[in-house]
Amino acid sequence: MYDWLIVGAGFAGSVLAERLASQRNERVLVIDRRAHIGGNAYDRHNDCGLLIHQYGPHIFHTNSKQVFDYLSQFTDWRSYEHRVLAEVDGQLLPIPINLDTVNKLYALDLTSEELEDWFAVRAEKVDDIRTSEDVVVSKVGRELYEKFFRGYTRKQWGLDPSELDKSVTARVPTRTNRDDRYFGDEYQFMPKCGYTRMFERMLDHPNINIMVQTDYRRVKDAIPHRRLVYTGPIDEFFDYRFGKLPYRSLHFRHVTLDQEWHQPVAVVNYPLTHDYTRVTEYKHLTGQPHPRTALTYEFPSSTGDPYYPVPKAENQELFKKYERLALATPNVWFVGRLATYRYYNMDQIVGQALATFRRINGALPVEGKRKAPSRPSWGDREDRALIPGPV
Ligand SMILES: Cc1cc2nc3c(=O)[nH]c(=O)nc-3n(C[C@H](O)[C@H](O)[C@H](O)COP(=O)(O)OP(=O)(O)OC[C@H]3O[C@@H](n4cnc5c(N)ncnc54)[C@H](O)[C@@H]3O)c2cc1C
Repeated sequence: MYDWLIVGAGFAGSVLAERLASQRNERVLVIDRRAHIGGNAYDRHNDCGLLIHQYGPHIFHTNSKQVFDYLSQFTDWRSYEHRVLAEVDGQLLPIPINLDTVNKLYALDLTSEELEDWFAVRAEKVDDIRTSEDVVVSKVGRELYEKFFRGYTRKQWGLDPSELDKSVTARVPTRTNRDDRYFGDEYQFMPKCGYTRMFERMLDHPNINIMVQTDYRRVKDAIPHRRLVYTGPIDEFFDYRFGKLPYRSLHFRHVTLDQEWHQPVAVVNYPLTHDYTRVTEYKHLTGQPHPRTALTYEFPSSTGDPYYPVPKAENQELFKKYERLALATPNVWFVGRLATYRYYNMDQIVGQALATFRRINGALPVEGKRKAPSRPSWGDREDRALIPGPV
């Protein structure tokens, strides 16, 4: 009998497994229907030994010291500030839009103050900002919206920005200075030996067992457990009784080139050309020295694994129906991006899982006096020297 069955070995499931096992000394079984741990953050070495992200580039950034300190127990870090260029009118230009973007695109020599006026002249007045289109045209005007956002969003979501909630583009800032970093967070790092290695250390505890290629629907009655943490799709858990929650999916094309570098930054966006939205070159993220280079092309799709909840009001209403069922289901904790039907970054999911652990601790006193078996810290372990790949 396990104290906990945890469905999903991504950030949500793995953080909770680690906390329950190490802090409450409870026996945990983590299952995942994929063939590996790490969820969408899973990375691996390809045939040439290049570290790639199986499900597209995952860049860690957070303002939460608590989340950063927690994960630092399981990994060293490599400093990395993310930069993205967009191919527009034959040029590679910084995105988010900044002073250099406008000056290069239009062959101008504006100062920051002049750029503010330049935007003000072009910005459209929108009284009630509701859609993704409203967000952008009200800041930078229609022409930059058409060049940088409209095509990208249509490819990414299969919908026009005018049909999508403002939250989709509200996350992308517009700058009048030359700051070309994609994120402004205090902590911007990549796990030094990759995400999968970090997950392995997190789950390396005598109280934790792991079964991959194991679907909850097939084993739920066969595995005796007292409580459940569920990080899979919430509509699937309830047999889609109110209908399917819509997701946007992606197909990934992983490529290795026989050359040292392909592009000047980790990610290049293609808002106006090609079927793919962006190309990632991993060596920029990992710092791995290698004579060849690995890329991933991302093709948005309406079919495939669930990646992005489609942010429309009617979908949130449907989710609320499932959420009400979830709240009325005893002994099950619904955690993570699929169970809460919302796009969250990795740090937000770690924060959500740590908060759930605190709630569990408050609601369920630890029975008897259990003492957790100790485990060697990964830093002391001999296998630290065996980490594969020259990352
Ligand atoms: C293309 C892409 C790029 C991203 N880039 C970034 C980024 O740069 N920075 C960032 O912070 N965040 C990024 N994210 C978000 C990040 O992936 C998520 O925040 C994180 O993976 C969420 O963790 P999770 O545990 O909730 O879900 P997941 O990682 O999806 O884990 C859930 C797991 O549950 C398993 N599962 C589901 N149903 C079942 C079942 N019935 N039985 C068994 N197992 C099941 C799944 O196989 C999966 O492995 C990106 C997301 C995508 C899609």
